[in-house]
Amino acid sequence: MREMNWAALGKETAQLLSELIQIDTTNPPGNERGAIEYLQKKLAAEGIHSEIFAKDPKRPNLVARLRGKRPGKKLLLLSHVDVVPAPDPTRWKYPPFSGAIAEGYVWGRGALDMKGMTAIEYSVFVLFKRARLDFAGELIFVATADEEQGSTYGAAWLAQAHPDQLRADWCLTEGGGMPLQIRNKVFYTIESVEKGLWWVRVRVKGSSGHGSLPHPDNALAKAAYIIDQVAHYKFPKKIAPAVREFILRASDALGPEIKKFALTLVDESSEGELPSLPSDAPISTTLLNALVRTTISPTMIRAGIKENVIPDSCEFVLDCRLVPGYTQEKVRETILELADRYKNDIEIETIQSHEASESPIDDPFYKLIEQTVREELPGVETLPVMLTGATDSRFVRELGVRSYGFCPLSTKMSLADREKLIHNDNERIDLESLELGVRLLSTIAHRALEAK
Ligand SMILES: [Zn+2]
Repeated sequence: MREMNWAALGKETAQLLSELIQIDTTNPPGNERGAIEYLQKKLAAEGIHSEIFAKDPKRPNLVARLRGKRPGKKLLLLSHVDVVPAPDPTRWKYPPFSGAIAEGYVWGRGALDMKGMTAIEYSVFVLFKRARLDFAGELIFVATADEEQGSTYGAAWLAQAHPDQLRADWCLTEGGGMPLQIRNKVFYTIESVEKGLWWVRVRVKGSSGHGSLPHPDNALAKAAYIIDQVAHYKFPKKIAPAVREFILRASDALGPEIKKFALTLVDESSEGELPSLPSDAPISTTLLNALVRTTISPTMIRAGIKENVIPDSCEFVLDCRLVPGYTQEKVRETILELADRYKNDIEIETIQSHEASESPIDDPFYKLIEQTVREELPGVETLPVMLTGATDSRFVRELGVRSYGFCPLSTKMSLADREKLIHNDNERIDLESLELGVRLLSTIAHRALEAK
């Protein structure tokens, strides 16, 4: 691997990304077909056969496979080609679908989320074929539709209709690879766990009446009580192994005072308030809280028809995020308990939900990512992370694939930079990151597939 011309591959990846960005796959409505056919044509030019799987012909998914000389492990390179809308192109320095290569960046919607990684994974995949690399098992390239709107036409559908297309030992996809600077050390994140989601509509029943004659069965007042209870409730801590490791490793770099606090934080038997963190701590107290427990945020409310009519019903929405091992049933029980004397006056209806998903961090492939980072980027360490949101990893994890989010970005872009740009104006990726991504992911893929 060492003798590869990474600079040339990085440049080629930038060009491919630029062309991918120019194909508008804004979701909704998606229209991923242009991007999928573009990738299929490029693969064909390399002599690689690929297959299209589609629930809707306008929203296809692409699968290509390279088989090694010997039987062995299977590695899935997974990405999505749809992007979120760019509502105001005038706020962009370069138009969102220009794919401009300028000032050391490739600009455009999807550069970070996640056509950049599609381009990198494509380059890794094609490199295996072009360089006639010796490997065992199978390398699988999958580009999907519809991740930004729940994957109904993409990974969710593929996992259900064609699970064999996604089955592998391991998967590499989005969610990690951000450099975190903690004091004088740089850590790269590896995503191994995602929280579950449960959006519920709570209907509170009461009785109507004239606003001039207040009575206690006012649905709005009852809802206000329940919302207040729920918003201030603290679920017991439940700490995933990856979160424990994240907190302990990051606190090591922050010094003994923080380490002491971190040890209490990861102790499930001790509660205690979270202290304010130093300004150079990698995360906020708000995020720490969300990492160690299930949370509920009230997000919407609707009641009433007129200023002087007491409403007989009130509906509100709760956004519940569940740590692994915590069930919706348990959250429902908690909401009912918190509703207290009103518990018989409410109905809880699911709007949308998915389970938490997790891959182990004591896995050989995870260790291989860590080891490759250490060897290729001397002085740099890794940190496992849990996302409070979700990626397509959850669908492949359900099939038994151990999936990790890792696509390394150069230190030119900090985590804060990246977070500002994702789903925002002036989204862009620096050219160093593209080259670094191709180099590291090629090395990881080659080692994982028992390279000799
Ligand atoms: Zn994404």
